[in-house]
Amino acid sequence: MLIRTDAFPVVGSQKELTDLKPRRWGDCVSCVELKQEPGGEAENPVDYVAWAKEHQRLYPTHTRFRFNTATNFQILPARVEPIPPIP
Ligand SMILES: [Zn+2]
Repeated sequence: MLIRTDAFPVVGSQKELTDLKPRRWGDCVSCVELKQEPGGEAENPVDYVAWAKEHQRLYPTHTRFRFNTATNFQILPARVEPIPPIP
């Protein structure tokens, strides 16, 4: 069962986790600038290589970049049985 209610959807299996759409972004490893798709990649696909080329044109020594993907998820806590009182 997959419940998607927030940025950390509850999953119960690896299949449910891999079915989630990851968040993707690129960043320059020489500075803090990053590029990500505003409002979701489906609506606003990003050409990260084109972005990197434009960034390098503005900052000639910035030639190394990182393309990142991350998938947030959470699990429901395991049921914990209460510890019986010590007699
Ligand atoms: Zn940079």
